[in-house]
Amino acid sequence: MLSAYLDMTPTRIGFTRLLGKFSRRAYFGPLAPFRLTQLGRTRLPGPRWVRVRNILAGVADEDVARVCLQVDPHVSVQAAPQPKRLFLGREVVGEVVEIGPEVEFLRVSDRVAYQMDQCCSTRGVEPPCRQCAVGAYNLCENRYLPGPEAVGGGWSEEMVVHEGQLFLVPDSLRDEQAALIELAAVATHAALRHRTQPGDQALVIGAEPLGLLTIQALQALAPNVAVTALPLKSYQVEIATRMGAVRILYPDDSEAGIVRLTNAKTYKNRQGANLVTGGFDIVYDTIGNAQSLQSALRWAREGGVVVLAGKRLNPFTVDLTPVWNQEITILGALAHGAENWPGGEGYAALGGEGGGRVGTFALAAALMREQRLTPERLITHRFPLREVRQALETARDHEEQRAIKIMLDIHTVASAVRNPAPAQPTAQPAHSR
Ligand SMILES: [Zn+2]
Repeated sequence: MLSAYLDMTPTRIGFTRLLGKFSRRAYFGPLAPFRLTQLGRTRLPGPRWVRVRNILAGVADEDVARVCLQVDPHVSVQAAPQPKRLFLGREVVGEVVEIGPEVEFLRVSDRVAYQMDQCCSTRGVEPPCRQCAVGAYNLCENRYLPGPEAVGGGWSEEMVVHEGQLFLVPDSLRDEQAALIELAAVATHAALRHRTQPGDQALVIGAEPLGLLTIQALQALAPNVAVTALPLKSYQVEIATRMGAVRILYPDDSEAGIVRLTNAKTYKNRQGANLVTGGFDIVYDTIGNAQSLQSALRWAREGGVVVLAGKRLNPFTVDLTPVWNQEITILGALAHGAENWPGGEGYAALGGEGGGRVGTFALAAALMREQRLTPERLITHRFPLREVRQALETARDHEEQRAIKIMLDIHTVASAVRNPAPAQPTAQPAHSR
């Protein structure tokens, strides 16, 4: 099977890091960790494992960051056991083509999306850890236990995974939607990370796919909250409007806009320090770098909340004085798991009477069915898997390329047969290659 992965041999990584200082193409060259090759078929490693023939996959920021070696080995998550071969692509829909003898929930020809890495249920840990016990598989305390690992990721023609790692896709979702449930679920989890109050003012920093979908999730799940979008690039203003953002701050005018919207006061000194009193009740940082987190901390009101949803695999320096001076709470958001769901009309089946815990994936899929979360409208580019290098270069240069969401067609024929209906209009014309 054709598969894209990273060969994590230290010499390859070291050499490419060095070469990368001179040429940006080094990350895609023949000596780089990034590989696109034919791999032999592996057997199912356990009775509850399945083989999935992939149909369509998304190119996520984290994939691009890993390929371009923008991961600092000193950050704590890098201490987790690392595979020798790191398969790429978490946003993927495919079709089950083989099942082990003890598979309980899936059948051949089921359409599935990749949902989670290993956790207590896929490792057979009984009783499950306290996180898995409440559905928070993203925080599983046993997620790094040794055991069989998935073979192939979304950017492979096939993947071999435990059935518990997959989500059964409802028939009502098209492949373009199903491949992006993961992204929608990340945004849904970020939006629900903090219980907002009616009348709250929220700011979403960043208008890349995660930021745009966080805006939509907030509008769907917290309709009494006034949501303001802050795209960091001028060209993103239009797409933020199209994705439903009602209030937009322009990148050049952000601080003046915040003062206007929230009646905040600002103080500056000659050294360039900048203090804001008042501000937003809650700020979602969907970028996660030094500049965006600094802005989030500055623009949250006294006693306010900052949700750190953007992920960077590099350490950076931030002035933390607002955390104590304004008693800001920082909440991290990682992927998806389960939500404390207040329930509500139309969602009773997900949360039960009067709400409860609901899987983020199921909630995101329900919101997508109703077109309240529309990640498929962000698709601007599609490439076949064999042109994955071009897809990566387009993603890396997304600003010049005006790329928002890039997809990889893995098995286009299956996709075309399955989805005869015309595609929804995309944000910009998707070019098929
Ligand atoms: Zn667990």
